[in-house]
Amino acid sequence: MKKIVLHVPGFPRIGAARELKFALERYWHDDIAARDLHATAATLRARHWAALRAAGLDFVTVGDFALYDHVANHIQLFGCEPARFAFGADESALQRYFIMARGRSGRDECSCGSAHAASPALEMTKWFDTNYHYLVPEFSDDTTFALAGTRLFDEVAEAQALGHPVKATLIGPLTFLWLGKGVDDKLALLDRLLPVYGAILARLKAMGVAWVQLDEPILGLDLPASWRGAFENAYWQLNQAGAPLLLATYFSPLEENLSLACRLPVAGLHVDGVRAAHELLNVADWLPAHKVLSVGMVDGRNIWRTDLDLALVRLAPLLDKRAGDLWLSTSCSLLHVPYSLKAETALDAELKSWLAFALEKLDELALLRAAIATPDEPAVQAALAASRMALASRRDSARVHNRAVAERPVPDDSRPAPFTQRRALQQARLNLPAFPTTTIGSFPQTSAIRTARAAFRRGELDVAAYEAAMRVEIAHAIGQQERLGLDVLVHGEAERNDMVEYFGEQLDGFAFTAHGWVQSYGSRCVKPPVIWGDVSRPAPMTVDWTVYAQSLTEQPVKGMLTGPVTILQWSFVRDDQPRRATATQIALAMRDEVADLERAGIAVIQIDEPALREGLPLRQGRRAAYLDWAVAAFRITAGVAGAATQIHTHMCYPEFNDILPQIAALDADVITIETSRSAMALLDGFGNFRYPNDIGPGVYDIHSPRVPDSREIAALLRKAQAVIPARQLWVNPDCGLKTRGWDETAAALRNMVAAAHLLRREA
Ligand code: GLN
Ligand code: ZN
Repeated sequence: MKKIVLHVPGFPRIGAARELKFALERYWHDDIAARDLHATAATLRARHWAALRAAGLDFVTVGDFALYDHVANHIQLFGCEPARFAFGADESALQRYFIMARGRSGRDECSCGSAHAASPALEMTKWFDTNYHYLVPEFSDDTTFALAGTRLFDEVAEAQALGHPVKATLIGPLTFLWLGKGVDDKLALLDRLLPVYGAILARLKAMGVAWVQLDEPILGLDLPASWRGAFENAYWQLNQAGAPLLLATYFSPLEENLSLACRLPVAGLHVDGVRAAHELLNVADWLPAHKVLSVGMVDGRNIWRTDLDLALVRLAPLLDKRAGDLWLSTSCSLLHVPYSLKAETALDAELKSWLAFALEKLDELALLRAAIATPDEPAVQAALAASRMALASRRDSARVHNRAVAERPVPDDSRPAPFTQRRALQQARLNLPAFPTTTIGSFPQTSAIRTARAAFRRGELDVAAYEAAMRVEIAHAIGQQERLGLDVLVHGEAERNDMVEYFGEQLDGFAFTAHGWVQSYGSRCVKPPVIWGDVSRPAPMTVDWTVYAQSLTEQPVKGMLTGPVTILQWSFVRDDQPRRATATQIALAMRDEVADLERAGIAVIQIDEPALREGLPLRQGRRAAYLDWAVAAFRITAGVAGAATQIHTHMCYPEFNDILPQIAALDADVITIETSRSAMALLDGFGNFRYPNDIGPGVYDIHSPRVPDSREIAALLRKAQAVIPARQLWVNPDCGLKTRGWDETAAALRNMVAAAHLLRREA
């Protein structure tokens, strides 16, 4: 009988009760010392390793832990901290780590008494197609690498001291270079980097580490030939160290890289058995018999219970084909799912029976192994039956399936008239000046607002008192905007805690966990809603607030909605129907809200889609299909609006050029985008493309408390005008203002309005 070995590519590190987050925050506030932070981290690692072993895993995974970000760990391990930080000899590795992660402000004086120059943090960007953000390594032509840290080895020793068999994990060299920026030819750095890997692998081997997992998720991307070629040489070299290597791929099928991944000189290959289930047989055929095959049959990206019968059916031919041991695993690191269902005491019991978080996924792995090794054992039979029953109840549930929703016809998604006609009608209705000014939606979420919302949630404030408190905030925001002289006002979103949660809580088909936190970056965690059933809107969600705001002013107030793609993207989604089907349901629900706002007399409605681009599939070949349904979802939502209703959308990300045709296809009357940090460079794409509708390029960065002066804003607008005809331009900040204070917000907006006036006079 061949052996079934269990492992996971990685595990959540923030802790069941977000212990790491709170320790980090205390450390940054100087409430605890570095050694206290390290102690919390060590406790969490020990606890997580114990959980892996308790579930029956054959190895603990070491090296996936990070105080802030695992890529940042590698930057230190490889000794490639960017020179621009000009670290002083007095700065410890831990201090440097957090300076890279969080930046250094010029005012900060170091403990040594000397002031170090200000440096912004490393750029943060999304880890493949997840909602986790990593710190981007910065390279230059003279970047050098050296084995410069002991953290990995210390953690290996820590696990060994606890008596655990260790599989160490590192990002592979090609993926590490791929993730970085700063040089055109990153591959040219490979020869400098490989010796460091060699040294690390030799040291891990000397420490008696059983396996070293090297993560190369870029094997699931469309790689240039030079990168594919580089794999062969690199892995030939890495293999010389003599440590048994497990090459790990995930998130995407291997496709044309499949035979390459199978033939690299490593001891084992991990593949994503969820997203690349259709490739499993191929991999089993191509992978040489002496190599270990690790299959990720339990989804590391979603929170549903695994269909174990289906997994067993898929595993059966692999067991037949492969002579050696078979490894079972989650598809990818469990970093992307919450810690455990155990904490969800208030969650609906039936829904809970359909779910599996990180700890429960470990149990699923153990059950899969038992189902293969000892299928006749009564306990195994019973566990399989329970899992089967939960799945069946979900499949047949009348709560999941709402016929009226699933069969609702999808309407024609076009607006009633082309943009030029709409524009004239809207102008006649709104009578806006040139360079109209507006904001992106949220105003400062003051502590008064947060206190009121929290008290309401705890039941300490009744509905009437809460609504009265929010109305005071709305009236305040409207009054401020009128005084500032803005043209299109907003109600300020005081009643919203989060732009997705606010809608999810009012839509059918969504559930919220109490502790389902997932790390977004560093100490920041998000608690994505769970979309578990057909989505519909029982009642209007924003109409009362918006109508109240509009009743206070003669200026138009913009209704504020989150778009269907963003709601989908920032939630855990159903795996029992295609994403597009769920997107369409959300779109139809939001369409009803647009119709109700319009009926209530609201003339301008914004549908935010900051996550539209995030949904792009990793493989080029799948992007067109995604963009088709994503654009359609937006158009379904917006399309119900009459020609005289002005539809805005808002997006904040630094890359548009590759999806400009699709952004134009949204056919929003106005799009506001984040551009100030690129000094309007982002607009060039829109200009070259001759983007037809109106655009509001963000004129100042809302991420910083800095108040821009009006000349500076006017200069940016003149720059914009050189690219986009003046009649198409709006004036607004980069994004919502909820994280800012009122003083700086009012000052910045006053200067923004002054800049708009300046441009009007110049025109
Ligand atoms: N309307 C939202 C706000 O102003 C938009 C936020 C976003 O783009 N992420 O807060
Ligand atoms: Zn934004």
